Amino acid sequence: MGATEIQVLNSLLQRWLVKEFDEKWIFVSLSMESIISYFETIPSSHRSLLLVGGITLFWILEGFVPLFKFDYKKWRHALPNLFFTLTTVIINFLLAFLLLKTSDWTVVNDFGILNWLPSMPLWAYIVLGVLLLDFIGAYLAHYIEHKVKPLWMIHLVHHTDHNVDTTTANRHHPLESMIRYAFTLFGVFIIGVPIGIVMLYQSLSLVATQLGHANIRLPKKIDEVLSYVIVSPDMHKVHHHYVLPYTDSNYGNIFSIWDRLFGTFMKLDREAIVYGVDTFPDVLENGSIKGLLKQPFQKYRKPTQ
Ligand SMILES: [Zn+2]
Repeated sequence: MGATEIQVLNSLLQRWLVKEFDEKWIFVSLSMESIISYFETIPSSHRSLLLVGGITLFWILEGFVPLFKFDYKKWRHALPNLFFTLTTVIINFLLAFLLLKTSDWTVVNDFGILNWLPSMPLWAYIVLGVLLLDFIGAYLAHYIEHKVKPLWMIHLVHHTDHNVDTTTANRHHPLESMIRYAFTLFGVFIIGVPIGIVMLYQSLSLVATQLGHANIRLPKKIDEVLSYVIVSPDMHKVHHHYVLPYTDSNYGNIFSIWDRLFGTFMKLDREAIVYGVDTFPDVLENGSIKGLLKQPFQKYRKPTQ
């Protein structure tokens, strides 16, 4: 083969490679676009299905590969937790319009971190949006709830569950649901997130928290590998240990990066974990809807160091 033929062959090959590359990227951005356009108008029924489907899936898995063999009546235990899940859903549903209004405002006015950054491919935009929302709407909110006394008393309701399982995920006092909502709203505003990404984030966040609380035993190695990217079940259980300093660790919701970055990541062997808060040991109160609704208004008590 002569030199010119090789040149021709080379340029043909290059052109083919470039075309192949372009097509892949067009495909990636098309599928990203369709994901976002689905979440832009995700029906309430699909969101409810995700909530109920997630709990059902993890509930079934808890039967097959339990982390702890709790001596409890699963439905009796689930009752207050499902009540607080329902109040969380109602609060978020009633206030959803504010999230939409704020998000639309940032898009129209080119406001917020995402809009101030140089332009980037859609996938990077989505990843960054979800990451930053996870930081402000979940990690930061959760961190502050542990450090400010009256907020801790509200968040306490989430921690006084003596049998952490997937139903614990949204065991939030209505006041906590409002606090978390306010942080998410502030996050959407300051980050400048389109509503499609907000809804994608909320859906991922829901499933992540159900997984983190699920009473399931993954192989230790797999759990550890997962914990480099997301909040794995073992990682979040450390946060539910009954004394400090473990209570004040592993605040993350979807991604573990924030705990690793800010030095709040801790490890504790799964066998050593005891659930609850040692200064609030009343099992009856901790399992009653009425008792839990009133719990934030008791005198401040810090877990023992
Ligand atoms: Zn907490």
